[in-house]
Amino acid sequence: MASPLKLYDTMTRSVLPVKAVDGKQFRFYCCGPTVYGPAHIGNFRAFLVQDVLRRTLQISGLNPYHVRNITDVDDKTIRTAQEEGKSLKEFTQYWIDKFHADSEALNILPPHQEPKATDHISQQIDLVQKLIKQDLAYSSSDGSVYFKVSAYEPYGKLSRLKDRETETQFLTSAGEHNDADEYDRESVADFALWKSRKPEDGENFWASPWGEGRPGWHLECSAMSQAYLGENFDLHAGGIDLCFPHHENEIAQSEGATGKPFARHWFHNAHLQVEGEKMAKSLGNMYTLEDLEKKGFSPTEIRYTLISGHYRQPLNFTIASLGAARSAIKKIEKLLRGNLEKIGMTEKAFTQINVTHLSGNWGHFTRAWDGLCNELNVSQTTGGIFAGFVSLEKENLDSDSIKNELSALAGILYALGIQLFKAGESEPVEIPESISAIAEERWQAKQARDWEKADGLRRELSEQGWQILDRKDGFDLKSL
Ligand SMILES: [Zn+2]
Repeated sequence: MASPLKLYDTMTRSVLPVKAVDGKQFRFYCCGPTVYGPAHIGNFRAFLVQDVLRRTLQISGLNPYHVRNITDVDDKTIRTAQEEGKSLKEFTQYWIDKFHADSEALNILPPHQEPKATDHISQQIDLVQKLIKQDLAYSSSDGSVYFKVSAYEPYGKLSRLKDRETETQFLTSAGEHNDADEYDRESVADFALWKSRKPEDGENFWASPWGEGRPGWHLECSAMSQAYLGENFDLHAGGIDLCFPHHENEIAQSEGATGKPFARHWFHNAHLQVEGEKMAKSLGNMYTLEDLEKKGFSPTEIRYTLISGHYRQPLNFTIASLGAARSAIKKIEKLLRGNLEKIGMTEKAFTQINVTHLSGNWGHFTRAWDGLCNELNVSQTTGGIFAGFVSLEKENLDSDSIKNELSALAGILYALGIQLFKAGESEPVEIPESISAIAEERWQAKQARDWEKADGLRRELSEQGWQILDRKDGFDLKSL
């Protein structure tokens, strides 16, 4: 089946139709998490957008095959494991399990393959050897190996960096400092493929032809994508902050070693801002799933918020937008219930509609489907869902026709990964203790006629997604 799906390609700076080059399976690779702590909403936005991509490919009949790695060895994982007095394996496994649990809660489909860097050391060593043989890499006196950027002429073609900008690997395309290690390299542009063992690495080193050490971070994605997808594949995805240097380095390593084109399509999602500000530890806005659940929001509402907008536009995540997601989901459920009642279908039966056999006729939800095909324009899709209901209402369709319309809708909701009628999730949520405490403090302030303080606390509650409803003798809290 031909797919109408079009996506922007960072390499060619153009919107291109998406297709599986072998006509059978659409093979794609996503840079996965570094497992040294809980993933935050910025990380999850990337994984959610990739999940919407995968689901849309599936509904389009493109038979996606999805590989996403786990970085379980790097400076941060080693350092944090040691601080906690744990082995690297024990430490990273804890955070892998947490990542999997969060992903499942957010209804992110597990990749078909999820290779770990530490399980693919020999493949990474082989790749370094190939690069050395082709004079694209050199070992230094301390046993580290570097990629020789000056020997690889197309370097910078993805991010289109000027030569002087490639002079430093210290800044990422997000303008942040890259924690490149200080080793003796020929040029500051050269990046480490293999890092020689240092005392602070503890027990975390492997034998190699250049002595004990560990792979550089960029290397694993080249080695593992090749192991699971071959020398070239259909699409490579990641956050825009990975475009340079990480993806640029992946291209140099892979194409340098094989002499063949690497990924055929480059897919990057834009940054996430929180309440109009950059995410930063110091601002306390690097929310995890757990943080937002404590504020009373469900994973479905969090998912709806994080996939909203256009993936190539920065998303401004706000607590208020979670409240808006809650309203939107409730509205869809209400509109859907009305139609289900008309045809005598249960909510459960709707959630069990088999979406893999859709006819490709989207009926009143054509605009919603077109949104997804139009570079995963989720705003167009959610708008199209509401518009679809409105136009559906205007027609007096028979039961079978309504059923077909709702099957089309089920397919679109599957592509968005939005699960409706989830038991418990649409029920009133428990009020977190921290919220009750603020509300109580406000009540006391009000009793003491400290209106300014009471107003401030009311605002604080509303920022956290709660509305206070005063009664004569107390108050109620309502989740926004
Ligand atoms: Zn990667």
